Amino acid sequence: NVRVRFAPSPTGPLHIGGVRTALFNYLFAKKHNGTFILRIEDTDQNRYVEGAEQYIIDALKWCGMPLDEGPGTNEKFGPYRQSERKPLYKAYAEELIASGNAYYAFDTAETLDAERKQCEANKETFIYNWHNRLKLSNSLSLSAEETQAKLDAGDDYVIRFKSPQDETLHLKDIIRGDIKIDTNILDDKVLFKSDGMPTYHLANIVDDHLMEISHVIRGEEWLPSLALHYQLYKAFGWDAPEFAHLPLILKPTGKGKLSKRDGDKLGFPVFPLLWEDPKTNEISRGYKEDGYFADAMVNFLAFLGWNPGTEQEIFTLEELVAAFDLKKVNKSGARFDPDKIKWFNHHYMQEQNNEELADIFKNSRPELADIDTSYIAMAINLIKERATFVSDFWDLSHFFFVTPTSYDEKASKKALKEGTDDIMKQLIAVLNANTEFSVETLTTEIKGWITSNEISFGKVMMPLRLALVGALQGPDVFDIMYMIGKNETVKRIEKLIA
Ligand code: GLU
Repeated sequence: NVRVRFAPSPTGPLHIGGVRTALFNYLFAKKHNGTFILRIEDTDQNRYVEGAEQYIIDALKWCGMPLDEGPGTNEKFGPYRQSERKPLYKAYAEELIASGNAYYAFDTAETLDAERKQCEANKETFIYNWHNRLKLSNSLSLSAEETQAKLDAGDDYVIRFKSPQDETLHLKDIIRGDIKIDTNILDDKVLFKSDGMPTYHLANIVDDHLMEISHVIRGEEWLPSLALHYQLYKAFGWDAPEFAHLPLILKPTGKGKLSKRDGDKLGFPVFPLLWEDPKTNEISRGYKEDGYFADAMVNFLAFLGWNPGTEQEIFTLEELVAAFDLKKVNKSGARFDPDKIKWFNHHYMQEQNNEELADIFKNSRPELADIDTSYIAMAINLIKERATFVSDFWDLSHFFFVTPTSYDEKASKKALKEGTDDIMKQLIAVLNANTEFSVETLTTEIKGWITSNEISFGKVMMPLRLALVGALQGPDVFDIMYMIGKNETVKRIEKLIA
């Protein structure tokens, strides 16, 4: 029974790496007919950011990854916000104290700082564990009475995990295989804080257990916590889930981890949706608002650290579900290539419904307000193979909607020759004689006139294109003429030679 959770902390907008983690969880769940859960890990109240949870939910929705369980959705293992589960964690911390796996620690920030400095001076690293536990102020160094007295007096305390001395832990990761860890390098991590809140480690393990999580799929930055998590499961006497730590996402250069700040520096979004910081009102760009299709982003993200082992690159979400395999996820970092996501977007552009694109395009240009959506859709159909974004449409298609007001200079030099006026006048006559004005009749009649009069093709087509488009680019001239109609075509040619 596969149950996976995406467990972000609402400390700001979900970055692209978080979306990749959510996606791999989603794919794994769906592949195994399992359950995809969203849990909000908001125990660190200092880092809580207004609106971040809603952003996460909106982002998952935009990507097309509906939750099976989460805040407000099928809450049978709820609540799914850790802040709302607060009363439940303390008893678990106390259970570990009772079983000898954890202890109270009363050290102040100042004493710990002083210890750290002293270690630095001796060129050692300070590790709070059996090395120095007994020198510090905690229930292992104090007598039971002293400890009780401190608790009764209401002294600030934290609860720390007691890591064992001289043991080797054998950890397992689906992607990385077996990992051995010497417990002597492990800190006695804080499980429960003086503010009455559990730390990430305790809340995460308790909730994964209570929510019956079968597989923990998360970013590589959590690998160093795995040893502690393993020990926590053991201390509680619970079965641990299986773990898979996803590879880092690297900057486009391949050097270093892609950071939240890289987007602005490098000129591409690192967030799925636009985000306005509630405190500074600073805006961060999002893939959606930048004109990317959700399918394109999802397809792109799936390849950050995974590949199907075949040449196929284009996958719908359903196809990804079918092909996905955690065993095919790489250990090494995945380079983020912003050009590749554009390539995907261009591909998905071709698959979009033209009427829907026309609606978006229409809303983006005041010039299109009075134009029929079906006409706009036909124009889009003729130009979209050259577009990556809807925002490319206008440059590629304006001549379907407005008469050119100027002609490209270089193009004019190339297209307008001696005799052009006369040829264009003949062309107007051919057009006026045409009664059906379909692409087919236009093509046969104009081509017929060109061949029977032995005119060179370019001498007709170049000025004609210049008249219609204002430049020498664009789709087939016969399509353009058909679209804008006979009157407008003739008008544009007259204007060119006027
Ligand atoms: N709250 C952690 C995060 O923000 C979750 C890590 C995990 O999945 O265990 O990424």
